[in-house]
Amino acid sequence: MSKRERSPCGEAASSGRVEVHLSDRRRRFLRWLLRWRGGSVARDSEEAPVDIALVQRRYQESEQRFRALLESLPRVAVQGYDRQRRVIYWNEASVRLYGYSAEEAMGRLLEDLIIPGPMRQPVIEAHRAWVEQGREIPADELELRHRSGEPVPVFSHHVMLGEHTDNPLMFCVDVDLSDQKRAHRDLAFATHFDQLTHLPNRQSFEADLDELLERCRRRDEPLTVLYLDIDRFVEINDALGYAQGDQILIELTRRLRHRQRAGDLMSRVSSDEFVMAFPGVSEAEARQSVVERVRGAFDRPFVVDGIERPLTASLGLSAFPEHGMVAWELIRNADVAKNRAKLDGQGTLQGFQQHFHDELVRQHRLAERLEHAIAKHELSLHYQPQVSAVSGRIENLEALLRWQPTDGEAVSPAEFIPLAERSGLIERLGDWVMEEACRQQAAWRAAGVEALRIDINLSGRQVRAPETLERLESCVARHGLRPQDIGIELTENVLIEAEEGVLARLRRLYHRGVRIAIDDFGTGYSSLSYLKHFPVTALKIDRSFIRDAPQQPEDRAIMEAAVFIGHRLGLEVVAEGVETVEQLALVREMRCDLVQGYYFHPPLPAADAQRLLFAQLAHAP
Ligand code: C2E
Ligand code: MG
Ligand code: MG
Repeated sequence: MSKRERSPCGEAASSGRVEVHLSDRRRRFLRWLLRWRGGSVARDSEEAPVDIALVQRRYQESEQRFRALLESLPRVAVQGYDRQRRVIYWNEASVRLYGYSAEEAMGRLLEDLIIPGPMRQPVIEAHRAWVEQGREIPADELELRHRSGEPVPVFSHHVMLGEHTDNPLMFCVDVDLSDQKRAHRDLAFATHFDQLTHLPNRQSFEADLDELLERCRRRDEPLTVLYLDIDRFVEINDALGYAQGDQILIELTRRLRHRQRAGDLMSRVSSDEFVMAFPGVSEAEARQSVVERVRGAFDRPFVVDGIERPLTASLGLSAFPEHGMVAWELIRNADVAKNRAKLDGQGTLQGFQQHFHDELVRQHRLAERLEHAIAKHELSLHYQPQVSAVSGRIENLEALLRWQPTDGEAVSPAEFIPLAERSGLIERLGDWVMEEACRQQAAWRAAGVEALRIDINLSGRQVRAPETLERLESCVARHGLRPQDIGIELTENVLIEAEEGVLARLRRLYHRGVRIAIDDFGTGYSSLSYLKHFPVTALKIDRSFIRDAPQQPEDRAIMEAAVFIGHRLGLEVVAEGVETVEQLALVREMRCDLVQGYYFHPPLPAADAQRLLFAQLAHAP
């Protein structure tokens, strides 16, 4: 068979209606080919002579279809090579994939076109082994070469046709893997880097830090980890929007990067938190050099939408080997130190101390126990009377929560209430308090004690939760009580920070006759002028003023001003924490309306409070 007559599939085509007897193998192949391309041959072709003209026509037709098919596959590059690996076929997809036009490629050697230098010899040998020994080249993922020299990732499948003839043809069917590879790379990037700042994420940072620590261990070098948390970033995000918040993060990353030495590590570990590691730097050195460098990133304000925004950050330090031997421990301890710094105010630095962590662990255990306190009936309410400053009669009761764990000592609400706030338990505790205070009030009223109000304390998180006040109202109604039977106490900061929705809900309660007191008055926001905007009925002057007023003219002056303004605004004024007769004399002189404190009564268990109330009822005029 002449070369001219060869098709890409290596079969001969001759002209004329000639009857030939094909070898078994050829016949089988032809039959397969025709069937595969939609043609057919006589079933008994083994015996019957084949009509060559018919076969040839069908063959040519299917040949055209086959070529059309190959050409139409946009992402499947097919190339054919002869025995010397010279190109004899090059489809459109090959043009796109490798950058050579069919004219350029035809006749050139495979290894000169798309095989990268180091693969040349192995490819030549593999091809030879196939042609000479029939050892197939298995399909595989390869990185071939574009005309421009760029690598081209493909999955390459190879077919040898006419294997045992003089002219074996190798066809390579390459599927472009660029998209998959890119997706893989993107995925790898996403799993290791932060999309916004392109800094390594926490996992990669931790892995890098562990490696770095290994080196420090070998060289006996120190290392310091710095945790950075932008102060009030949530407010920036809320006020300006996430896009602006993102701009700040990108700019901060740029500034911090600028201040890094080669070999330092940095990561963004959560929205506004960054961690850095400084090998070879001890904590003492870090305090002198690194911290100042990092703080320098905040020297200039951040410009967002043309407006300058000065920012600060809270910083926490932990040091290797003193505060941890492995990355996660050093990161966690720097975080713990940073949280401590946050409590000290904005822009502060704190180094890790073991007792910070011990305290956290203790709090965590306490929170776990508190979770079961309701179910284990460990909670109760104590009631502290508020008496009339003039008559000494009990007018109201403040309900104060008590926790007596079955397996340990009583825990102060000053400790477990803030803990419940932080851990999200406060709403469940608060609901229990509401329910219990309403139940007790209903029981006392049923027993004839009618004129008293019980006030419950609501913390910030409770007031912000949209349903709390509705739940209170329905709880009051469910127990057959009137709105004025249960009052609430809020601290002034809760009111100052309250959003319009919260204020609207408070106003509704106020208009329904619910008494609303500002607790610990004087300890929070310093301006009195805001008072007129809030729906409140009473001020409870904080006990620190009452404690110090007899000796401190300033506290006395503040108290007098608070009582004066409270009265001018028509509010009831309660003096908290009155313990001594001097303090009582003072608050009477200032004309406080109600007095609460150990001088009269401590917080009492319900049964003791009840005895007191019944005694008062019995002596009522
Ligand atoms: P608070 O609302 O300001 O309650 C007054 C606190 O002062 C109570 O502390 C009370 O026992 C104490 N106290 C009363 N009279 C005197 C006195 O003459 N001298 C001194 N030194 N202290 C006095 P307690 O019961 O330890 O409660 C502490 C805080 O825990 C409360 O302060 C309140 O903010 C919070 N709390 C208590 N119960 C609840 C509750 O059911 N829910 C919420 N959200 N917070 C509560
Ligand atoms: Mg209170
Ligand atoms: Mg108070």
